[in-house]
Amino acid sequence: MRLSDKVAIITGSTRGIGEACARLFYREGAKVVVTGRDEPKGLSLVEELLSATAPKELDQTDNRCTFVKADVSLKGDVLRLRDRTLEAFGRIDILVNNAGINVPSPLQDLSEEAWSRVMDVNVKGVFFCSLIIGRQMIGQKSGAIVNIASMAAHYAFPYGAAYGPAKSAVIMLTKQCAMEWAKYNVRANSISPGLIRTPMTENIYQDEGVTRERIGLIPLGRIGTPEDVALAALFLCSNDSSFITGQDILVDGGLLDNVFQRIPGRAKIKEKIT
Ligand code: NAD
Repeated sequence: MRLSDKVAIITGSTRGIGEACARLFYREGAKVVVTGRDEPKGLSLVEELLSATAPKELDQTDNRCTFVKADVSLKGDVLRLRDRTLEAFGRIDILVNNAGINVPSPLQDLSEEAWSRVMDVNVKGVFFCSLIIGRQMIGQKSGAIVNIASMAAHYAFPYGAAYGPAKSAVIMLTKQCAMEWAKYNVRANSISPGLIRTPMTENIYQDEGVTRERIGLIPLGRIGTPEDVALAALFLCSNDSSFITGQDILVDGGLLDNVFQRIPGRAKIKEKIT
């Protein structure tokens, strides 16, 4: 198992990519703190994980999972999240800053309130969690932080409004943590998911035509799953990536590099496979 006995906090883990990380990290032996604002969903995920038979390498009676209600944009909640985690498990090895929101809008119509809400959750939330939990990791002289950014950090998209600017700040904050905290053996990396089917984007994929068109743009020929992102996060949180810090990994099936294939008028060449 790749995360045996590591203590992991995953923000916004009551659904979507965060939930997939919680499930995968738990299977890989981590002690997992599920956290978010939706208490009933968080508690039912914890109950489900605890009731699953533990792999034989692990103590069956060990309570390796708990829920802490927290809104990452509120400093008091993040302090409580750290304290409750330390009470339950005594240390913090992994932080996945996954909680995020999008408020799509034409830029010229974006309200100050919407700008602030997106920045508060997507940037200030990562700032609070990274510093408050990062200080604990600095004291321990070890830790791994993974921030979930977005392909929107790399290219502007229609009605991206505050979301793209927020996610590009996340990538730079990741690099800042990585450079300043490497001397404490605390690593920080980010993941930029592409088109991933989650509760956040589910309404888009209800339209089969749109889904087909989207798949047509992705060289690997499918929409991403929350597990695709969780597997990249697992790598970046495990010792397998112990010499990697300050990096951003695109998990997008090749979408962002697919510019040339979208340009019409390419020569018609038949591929021969011998
Ligand atoms: P989702 O909406 O399904 O899940 C997001 C989770 O974050 C939810 O559990 C939500 O309750 C939680 N959350 C929101 N605000 C919060 C707050 N203030 N405090 C604590 N929790 C909060 O979305 P998802 O698709 O699973 O997205 C997860 C992350 O991946 C987000 O940061 C998102 O921006 C990013 N992302 C998603 C996609 C995609 O296509 N789905 C693409 C690129 C990036």
